[in-house]
Formats: sequence, structure tokens, C-alpha cells
Amino acid sequence: MSRQRVSNLEVKKINRNQIYRFINQQERVSKPEIASKMGISMPTVLMNVNELLERGLVAEVGDFESTGGRKAKVLSPVYEARYAIGIDITQNHIGMALTDLSGKVLNHTRLYKPYTNEDQYYRDLGDLSLKFLHEINRPLEQFLGFGVSIPGIITPNNATIAFSHALRITNIPCKMFSQYIDYPCIYTNDANSAMVAEMYHHPEKTTAVYLSLSNSVGGSIYTEKTTGFEGQQVFDNLFLGDNYRSGEFGHMTLYPGGQPCYCGKLGCVDTYCSAKIMAQQTDGKLEKFFESVSSNADFAKLWDEYLDYLAIVVNSLRMAFDCQIIIGGYVGSFIEPYLKSLQDRAAILNTFDPNASYIKPCRFKIEASALGAALRNIENFISTI
Ligand SMILES: [Zn+2]
Repeated sequence: MSRQRVSNLEVKKINRNQIYRFINQQERVSKPEIASKMGISMPTVLMNVNELLERGLVAEVGDFESTGGRKAKVLSPVYEARYAIGIDITQNHIGMALTDLSGKVLNHTRLYKPYTNEDQYYRDLGDLSLKFLHEINRPLEQFLGFGVSIPGIITPNNATIAFSHALRITNIPCKMFSQYIDYPCIYTNDANSAMVAEMYHHPEKTTAVYLSLSNSVGGSIYTEKTTGFEGQQVFDNLFLGDNYRSGEFGHMTLYPGGQPCYCGKLGCVDTYCSAKIMAQQTDGKLEKFFESVSSNADFAKLWDEYLDYLAIVVNSLRMAFDCQIIIGGYVGSFIEPYLKSLQDRAAILNTFDPNASYIKPCRFKIEASALGAALRNIENFISTI
């Protein structure tokens, strides 16, 4: 095959992929609109749309109102053409979320199931995953696979969970978790998964840091590269570091010689900013803490101190990364009413910014990590279109 021929095929694939992604982002679009907005000729649009129609990824769902000439057909993405399930493994729970080519959470569940590195746990995980899959009642041939979110450091190629403090495991092969799941499974760190969920629908190219404030503190760093090819995957934009340990913000030292951290060091961010600090006041139920924080003076004092510590951490991240900082994890789900207060505290500390509007609440408050993990399967599929 000549070099020219390969190149033409690549251009054809890139065009088809870009046209699909454009249609995927629109609820309703016409062929002339695709041609004008994407700067692609009508014959190229027609050829590619016909291919996508044949593959069942796009459908004609009616006519646009006439603007004088012939009515244009309404094209819509067939989101249900493929689907994937995300599984979020935490110390005490298993969360699951269904998504399809829309990238939205369509169905979710969360079960109390403390992790133990024993065969019975993996059997139960297999049973629960397959039960969720079958209850969805969608055609199995459209199922792309499971994405698994793990609170730990994962080596590339789905090989090993190098380390997880939360699960108290070291060098466990990822396939331990999927040994009773007879479908493809892709593994992703929990904070990276949540970051991907946040960025998947982000309207513009951007850089962001995700600060995950759950029972442990972690994070993720996202830098959108401009490659000139829109087919690049959201996951390729994660900054992972030399040892895949980037974003471990929980173990930056906040106070030298401070409170003991579960990692064995003193004064880590985790000991001042973990969601447990609030949740342990209300039997592990964080929502109960926030229900009574305005009426309980002790809770209010504790929350006030927490916000002071959090402001220091957020401001340090802003100084290091100069980008938006997303407040995520369990605390992120409750931060919106207190966002202004956090921004004011962070602004006082900052050398450059007159305000801290760069601090954003997370957009995905339910099963963000499960969704992000599932999106790896969705992205892998879309990149083949
Ligand atoms: Zn630590």
C-alpha cells in the first residue's frame, strides 16, 4: 500500500471521527450545519453521515422547519448504540454507574461492602457487577465492558495496583478484582476517574486540578494538549507523573510535626482536610453534619477551621498550577453554599489573584469516579469510529 494511500485513509478516518464527535455533542443537527460549522465539504459530510447511519450510530429523526428551500433532515446521535458500566471500589462501598455514548450517568447504585483481600469479596464483586449488567436489560452485544475505579496507584496497561492505603494492599494484580467478571475491565485511579468525568463534557480546552476530599484526600492534574487531532482521548490529558503518583495532594505537609497521618508521616494535608473530620461527628454520615452545621456551634467551629486549612491547600495548588481548582470528592458535593467563604479565605492568601473565582465546585456529585472509569470504554470505542 503506498504512503499516499495510507495517508488518504487516515484523513478519511479523522474526518469520520470528527463528524461523529460533532454529532455526538449535538442533540439535533443537519448535514448543511455540519458542513458549515466544521468547514468540511458537503460530499464529505454526506459520505460520512451515510456510513454512520449504516452503523447505527446516528439516526434521522425528522425534518427541520423549512427556511425556504428543501427541509433538512434532523440527525441525532444514537447514544444507546453502545454502553459501559463503571465500578467504584472504596474501603466500605461498591458504587456502580451505567453510561452510554452520551457520557451521562443513566443509572447508579451504591452498596455497603467493606473491602477485604479475600476470594469471597472478589466473588461477590463479580456477582454484583453481573447482576447490575443484567438488570439494565440492554443487548449484551452493545456492552463495551466495565471500568473499575480504584483508590490507589495503578501502573499502566491495567497491570498492577502498586499501592492503596485505603484498601491496605500493595502490588496486587488488577485482574484479582475482575477474576469473576467475564468481560473486559479497564482500571483507573479514583481521582483521575472523577477528573475525567468532569472534563468529558467540558466545552473548552483547559487545564485543571481536581482536589478529591473524601475519606482520604487525593487529586488529579489535567492538561489538555493541542494535537490538532480531535480524536485524542480525554485520558491522554491526565498528567500521571514519573511513578503514576501525581496528584497525591493528601500527603503534602501542611503542618511540620503536626497530627499523625495514616501514611505514617506527620502533618499531612489528609489529617486536616479529609471528609472524615466532619463525618466522624455524625456517625460517618457527612450529609448529617451539613444538615446541622448552621445550628450546631461545635460543628460550625470545626467547619470554620476546616475551611481555613482547605484555603491554604487550594491556594498552594493555585500557585503551583495556575489553573482552575475543582473541589471534588464527598466534601465537594456539599461545598456550593460555602464556596464564597472558601474563595474569600483563599484570596487573602494569594499573591496575584484579587479573588479566588478559580475555585470551582465539582459538577458530578453522584458516582463521578464510577462514571469516569466507564468513560474509558466509551472513549476507546469512539476513537475507533
Ligand atoms: Zn500522609
